[in-house]
This record gives sequence, structure tokens and C-alpha cells, in this order.
Amino acid sequence: SVTDQAFVTLATNDIYCQGALVLGQSLRRHRLTRKLVVLITPQVSSLLRVILSKVFDEVIEVNLIDSADYIHLAFLKRPELGLTLTKLHCWTLTHYSKCVFLDADTLVLSNVDELFDRGEFSAAPDPGWPDCFNSGVFVFQPSLHTHKLLLRHAMEHGSFDGADQGLLNSFFRNWSTADIHKHLPFIYNLSSNTMYTYSPAFKQFGSSAKVVHFLGSTKPWNYKYNPQSGSVLEQGSASSSQHQAVFLHLWWTIYQNNVLPLYK
Ligand code: UDP
Ligand code: MN
Repeated sequence: SVTDQAFVTLATNDIYCQGALVLGQSLRRHRLTRKLVVLITPQVSSLLRVILSKVFDEVIEVNLIDSADYIHLAFLKRPELGLTLTKLHCWTLTHYSKCVFLDADTLVLSNVDELFDRGEFSAAPDPGWPDCFNSGVFVFQPSLHTHKLLLRHAMEHGSFDGADQGLLNSFFRNWSTADIHKHLPFIYNLSSNTMYTYSPAFKQFGSSAKVVHFLGSTKPWNYKYNPQSGSVLEQGSASSSQHQAVFLHLWWTIYQNNVLPLYK
């Protein structure tokens, strides 16, 4: 295994930890050859820290208040960027030479080690605006220098969508034109809402999906699961397409079989 490379995710509360745990277990199901790292914030409970440490090699608390002075001061001026700046902490993992960041609402369907052949900054197009990348899956190289530049950029320019995706797209602004190798194929960040907006493409290419991203306001943990029948129930007005239902079902199966037993 390669010990100086890692898959990294982020969970700032116990709810997103459930997503991180399913993601971690989905990576472990497909011949994991890299380290698994989760960044957490102080709000995460001690129980969840124990559970996370059963799946992740490293559970790292990041806390803006404890950070270097320049981060702290800048943060006080732009508190709305709190969550965004938290994701940027992944650049401080300098004991790794290269990492793949995955949102806690992603699910890995097969081995994706080939992502480590890519360089910084590689990501897949965003389905809503394909000249921008989606920041739910990306390849990066930890560096305190880059981290500092990213924070400075955040303080000077903010983020056009208020989140990490807007910030990262304006920082890595030549992504869409500079180097085609930095465009990850869409199968590495297949957003669940694309499955019904371009259904023929999904029929053609969907079976080669490697990472599914449950992007948007309804996350897998917002559905109800019946362990007896194995069915995922819709709640409220959220309706899932048939394609999405397959992935939701897989998420819940991993949760049931590979996450819940960790609490025992
Ligand atoms: N996140 C978190 N706590 C939150 C919101 C977001 O830990 O309250 C992290 C988590 O890793 C999540 C990522 O930030 O996957 C991006 O947020 P989200 O996936 O909700 O955004 P979307 O992909 O739907 O735009
Ligand atoms: Mn996401």
C-alpha cells in the first residue's frame, strides 16, 4: 500500500459523520490501498469519534479558533465562510504527498486508485454549469503554502456561491481550459440529480459509474429505510428516480451491514 497518499473527507456534525462512515466503508469494500482520513470539528460527539476511528486511519480535529493567527483573524472578519474554510484544511495534511477529497455524501462503487495518477487540481464538471468543476471529488496536493494562498483568496474575494465550490473554482480558475488531464470523467462524480436530467446518457454510461454523489438538499440519511423489506422510503415531497433508488438502496445496505454493527 501507499502510505503517503490518502482519501480525505469532512464531517462537521454527527449527521454528516453517518455519510462519512458509509463512504469510508464503501472505500474499504474495494481493496483499499491508501490511508483513510476524516476531518472533524469540535461539535462532533465523543461517541462518533470512537466510531469514526474504527473506519478511518486518522480522525483529525480541525478548529479555526486554534489555527495560526492569520487564519483566526481573517475568519473573524468573514465568519460566514466558516464551513468553506474548514474544507480548505485538507491542504494542511502535509504528511501526505497527494490526496483525493470526497464529500461525505459520496459513495464509492469500485476501486478508484487511478485517481492518484492525476495531479492537482483535478475534478469533474459540475452538472449545473460544466465550465465549473464540482468540488465534491477532487485530487489535491497538501501544501501549507497553497493553504495560505487559498485562505488569502477567500478573504479577498469571498466565494461567489458562498461555499467551497465557488472559492475553489475562482482560485483554480483555468481548470476548464488549461489541461484536459485535470478533467476527471463524470463517472468519478456522478451526481444523483443528473440521472433524470439526461436519462439516455445515464442508460449508456451509468453502469460504469465509480463514485456517486448525493448532491443537493436531500441526503441518503434523510430517507427512511425498512431493514425488514430492504426498501428505502421517500419522505415528504422528495421523490427519487428509479436510477437513484438503486444507489440509495446501496447506501442504506452499507449503513445497515457495515456501519450500524460498529456501534455494538
Ligand atoms: N459538510 C459538513 N457539514 C455540513 C455541511 C457540509 O461536514 O453541515 C461537509 C460534508 O463533507 C459535505 C461537504 O461539506 O459532503 C459539502 O456539503 P454538501 O455535500 O452538503 O453540499 P452539496 O454537495 O450538496 O453541494
Ligand atoms: Mn456533496
